[in-house]
Amino acid sequence: MAHERGGGLVSAPSELELLDIAAEHGAEQVVMAADDDTGLRAIVAIHSTVLGPGLGGTRFYPFATERDALIDVLRLARGMTYKHAACGNDLGGGKAVIIGDPRVIRSDALMTAYARFVDRIGGRYLTAEDVGTTQADMDLIRGITPFVTGTSESIGGSGDPSPATAWGVFHALRAVAERRWGNADLAGRHVAIAGVGKVGAALARHLAEVGCRVTVADVRADATAALATELGAQVADPSIVHEIECDILSPCALGATLNEHTIPRLRCEAVCGCANNQLATDADGERLAAAGVLYAPDYVVNAGGVINIAVELEAGGYDHERALTRVATIHDTVARVFATADREGITPAAAADHLAEERLRTAQPS
Ligand code: NAD
Repeated sequence: MAHERGGGLVSAPSELELLDIAAEHGAEQVVMAADDDTGLRAIVAIHSTVLGPGLGGTRFYPFATERDALIDVLRLARGMTYKHAACGNDLGGGKAVIIGDPRVIRSDALMTAYARFVDRIGGRYLTAEDVGTTQADMDLIRGITPFVTGTSESIGGSGDPSPATAWGVFHALRAVAERRWGNADLAGRHVAIAGVGKVGAALARHLAEVGCRVTVADVRADATAALATELGAQVADPSIVHEIECDILSPCALGATLNEHTIPRLRCEAVCGCANNQLATDADGERLAAAGVLYAPDYVVNAGGVINIAVELEAGGYDHERALTRVATIHDTVARVFATADREGITPAAAADHLAEERLRTAQPS
């Protein structure tokens, strides 16, 4: 699934027509909106509704060209299909982009025009927060259309997804420990967390609570200092955190940190964290396996946020306890990924894709 890895924009040959690009990414539907009164330029890509309506966030970003925006939204929508399928959500892959710098062009009028656009799609696409949009934007959109998730808890939404994401990473780490050392107990294990923002800090607390030794690294010294005081965590230099001797490295900041330069320097037995697109290229999955490092695929590990959001859509509405129980099933999914990798003689990254594709295939109407 090369489209979901590597972080950067994928460029398509310039001779391809726009609809050819959509076809190449396997999208079911692409919908565009332009509104000169507010400056709105938006694209929604629905990759698959085989498992349910396409759910994915709205990225508000100053893409260099509309073609770049289209390629990115198609790539991200396909990534969402795999993510929902692998984690067991009855949801499909969808994503949206609004073209422009939100700091410059965002207005309530523009977001309102965008909400009407989402509403007209009629529920085949459900939006959520992503880079450049906020929970306040989702609350505004909720005033116009029901086809939005991740709104504030005060209006019945699931709120900030980060705690759920951290809870999911914690359970993924348990599955890693089970596979690597035959026991899911993390007490006495040493986990190095690269990036202690919203997810990484919450993860550090879960780990400390079960007696895990935690090392934290972040470009923000205040973030690591606070955790050193609160949890007794050791602090590492973020530029060399991947070289620390530990049981598990947990990338919780940026993408593409596992690459041809860092993998030979790893001194951990496994990698399992929340950052998106951790492998710089597909070859890095093979490289990790060759180095004897167990890799828990990022989009399976970090699915807690989308599982949490899916609970919002259930009859009876969002329930925190039900969401956390559901998120904890990430342990079972990661275990299944490792078992599939062993059985098929493939990397865990490839096994995650296989599991998602298998679910889509069996759900497909004959
Ligand atoms: P965040 O912005 O709150 O935290 C990221 C942290 O990483 C910050 O503290 C930042 O200072 C630090 N950082 C930046 N560059 C760094 C570097 N080079 N080395 C070490 N630390 C560095 O973000 P978050 O919500 O905690 O998300 C972390 C990652 O997980 C992101 O890649 C995000 O896309 C992904 N993710 C988050 C969620 C979620 O629910 N928040 C869900 C799925 C995936």
